[in-house]
Amino acid sequence: MARVSERVFLALGANLGDRAANMREALRRIGERCRIVAVSSLYESPALVDEGSPAGPDYLNAVAEVEASLAPGEVLRLAKEVERALGREPGGHWAARPIDIDILLYGERAIDTPELTVPHPRMAERAFVLAPLAEIAPEAAHPSLGGTAGDLVAEVDLSGLRHVEGPEWAGDECARPPDAR
Ligand code: AMP
Repeated sequence: MARVSERVFLALGANLGDRAANMREALRRIGERCRIVAVSSLYESPALVDEGSPAGPDYLNAVAEVEASLAPGEVLRLAKEVERALGREPGGHWAARPIDIDILLYGERAIDTPELTVPHPRMAERAFVLAPLAEIAPEAAHPSLGGTAGDLVAEVDLSGLRHVEGPEWAGDECARPPDAR
């Protein structure tokens, strides 16, 4: 049976090395396997701090919508593959990283396995995820909280978030209309 593709939203973050280049390269690699439908502006946010350790460098953040004919586990594998390819060392949850890729939403599915929780469990409290998500898909529904991305972003403090550049940061790869791919 042919798989129906679903709207999948990925959060990308980078806080090591040439952050913008890492973001672009991650997107290029994702685009080799999924159709990229939309990319948000580029934002900058302070690294989240773990109690007792010094804050890392600021993050660049963005959200991409992809149309995946890949199953959720395959999208996760792709995300980890791209993270590894860009030099992410296995490390603590709070470690600085050249690229971090999280699956925010996979259609309106709720997934809870040892490897994967979707919607991403911390997305509703993260301005650096909700602002770019609401920019490209304000109507995207959060299946367990009941609201849309537009509703959720209205509830968070956006003061630490800086808009760095419009969606053109993603370059030609993603600027092309989906029909031209
Ligand atoms: P992190 O250090 O934030 O990149 O977390 C990495 C681990 O979180 C991965 O090994 C995944 O198995 C797990 N994980 C659970 N839910 C998700 C999700 N929605 N997106 C990405 N990783 C997830």
